[in-house]
Amino acid sequence: MNDLSLFPSLAARLARPERIRLAKARIPVALLADDVPVGAEVDRDGSARLDILIENGRIARIAPALADHSNDTIALDDRHVWPLLIDAHAHLDKAHTVRRAPGSGGTHPGARAATTADRLAHWNADDLLRRMEFGLATADAHGVAAIRTHLDSHEGQAEITWSVFAEVRERWKGSITLQAAGLVPLDVYRDDYGARLADIIANHGGLLGGVTRASGGTHGSGLDDIDLLLDRLFALAKERELGVDLHVDEAAQADALPHVARAAIRHSYEGRVTCGHCCSLALLSENELRDRISLLSDAGLSIVTLPTVNMYLQDRQDGRTPRWRGVTPVQELRAAGISVAAAGDNCRDPFFAYGDHDMLDTWRQSVRILHLDHPYADAVALAGPAAAGIMGIDAGTIGVGRPADLMILEAWSLDQVIARPHSDRVILRKGVFSNRTLPSYGMLADFPTA
Ligand SMILES: [Zn+2]
Repeated sequence: MNDLSLFPSLAARLARPERIRLAKARIPVALLADDVPVGAEVDRDGSARLDILIENGRIARIAPALADHSNDTIALDDRHVWPLLIDAHAHLDKAHTVRRAPGSGGTHPGARAATTADRLAHWNADDLLRRMEFGLATADAHGVAAIRTHLDSHEGQAEITWSVFAEVRERWKGSITLQAAGLVPLDVYRDDYGARLADIIANHGGLLGGVTRASGGTHGSGLDDIDLLLDRLFALAKERELGVDLHVDEAAQADALPHVARAAIRHSYEGRVTCGHCCSLALLSENELRDRISLLSDAGLSIVTLPTVNMYLQDRQDGRTPRWRGVTPVQELRAAGISVAAAGDNCRDPFFAYGDHDMLDTWRQSVRILHLDHPYADAVALAGPAAAGIMGIDAGTIGVGRPADLMILEAWSLDQVIARPHSDRVILRKGVFSNRTLPSYGMLADFPTA
């Protein structure tokens, strides 16, 4: 067994990698962009033993692991090597407000009210910029390659938030690919502001979005004209050729998802719509679920599961331990061929008091919460290729010609990847060792507290 002193020397050697061979890496097959090279050995977790040649920041060759190597070689001795991961659903504008927002009680209505109060009191450009930068620096240190954030886009707020987003997207474009979707209650599309918001989003190259509940309301009620509102949203998206990403049914009792699916079909938007949460699917009968999944499949919807936040918000009542854990039936959706990603969602805000923009952590928790093990099969896809596919970007896999954006983990098996937080992961961005460290919470010390 190798001693841990490999890592400081590895970091030093990766500082100038014009040509570096990572020898005897172990890569989950589901994280390879192409077929497993002929002759490569695949272990019982479904990971291939490979050599990776990096030239000028890109992956030049992937080949079966060899015994002998030249002196440009860094011997990984069968450690796991992963691509940098993808967070397909985040809220960078809400993040890191938990200490100053009024108490939410940890419930969905409480979180909504606390966030509204915080937004009205504090969300100017400077505040948004500081918190988004803190979140992105954190994600960078954890080795996140891309983030799709939702942005609260209420009238009077949207212009401020989207222009700050444009600024951070430009600043981080060399390391983190950023996308954004506008987030408003669906009834906002009933009036003129819906069209103005669609224009703001189109001007910033974003996605049209929303949450399938009424302003000030909760999921599952108050949207009698949901089909009309969805028609309006899809018409605005279609006129501007925007993708659609919605928050849907984040509750035990709510049934907007079939309306969204039928709207996608009505507007020929199959394959261009992502739905996050979809918690209430889990409480359908087996027959209802089978029919529902078939409709989602016909509509070409992609689903993003946000298990850490669902477990925090769903079924919370004072003095009572939650019985229902609120997570999406991911295995059934994937078995039907529906694209599913796992993502981080909220981070240290009224909707989720914790989190750290760390997709490896979100993925490790997702495996345990959703039982994506025994076997692991291609569970890794949820934070890699499936998430990249939903965002429509070339990332989340390791392949020839791709940038050498990689994580080397002190792990020889998937159970070891999942068991530890891997705070000692070695991150390469374009083949260069990244020495970014996590920003200190001290940077937020002057925030007011509630
Ligand atoms: Zn969300």
